[in-house]
Amino acid sequence: MQFSEFSLDKRLLATVEHMGITTPTQIQEQAIPIALAGKDLMASSKTGSGKTLAFLLPAMQRLISTKALSKKDPRALILLPTRELAQQVYSQLRLLVANTQYKAISVLGGENFNDQAKALSREPHFIVATPGRIADHLSQRHLFLNGLELLILDEADRMLDLGFVDQLKQINDAADHKRRQTLMFSATLDHDNINDIAATLLNSPAHVAVGASH
Ligand code: ADP
Ligand code: MG
Repeated sequence: MQFSEFSLDKRLLATVEHMGITTPTQIQEQAIPIALAGKDLMASSKTGSGKTLAFLLPAMQRLISTKALSKKDPRALILLPTRELAQQVYSQLRLLVANTQYKAISVLGGENFNDQAKALSREPHFIVATPGRIADHLSQRHLFLNGLELLILDEADRMLDLGFVDQLKQINDAADHKRRQTLMFSATLDHDNINDIAATLLNSPAHVAVGASH
């Protein structure tokens, strides 16, 4: 299979080609059509299997092909457990948005809070973030998620290990509306609390597990 067989904007396909990527990985092949169909998804596959593009491409496509619910609020929020992981995802996202009119920022723990508040006030479409810092900005009303169309949790198992459950619930409540799509990715689903958080955040999700032993 080729990326061009997915219903993706030609600017996205061109960026993928520039990345030197031709054939989708298994998780991409299975997750992208489900995410493009607007369904909630819980997906797992091992580290290094290409999960980042499995959610960034459908997220970009949704922004391109649908009308924004809100002019001000971010349209997509991607959460990761650590700064380093968030920076890796943000660098791939920047390549994808470079070709479009969309604006992406990162909001990470350990960076200047006021600078972040300023960046949030400039109405980015996309935010890549760590959960604690986003929860802080929500509490300070620097950020509203009423117009959020896509909530993506990457490395969900590690976010739970790092104790981000309360922040995830706060973010979920701030973006609680019918038209939100939620995608959850993890290296493993063997985690005590992952089904609980999935039940809270996801709405009748499809499940994709590549390389699972059962
Ligand atoms: P994961 O999140 O599953 O650990 P990543 O999304 O970080 O994996 O991808 C790992 C590496 O594989 C990255 O360098 C990425 O650019 C590359 N990659 C992603 N998709 C493909 C693909 N379809 N073909 C070849 N390489 C890919
Ligand atoms: Mg990853």
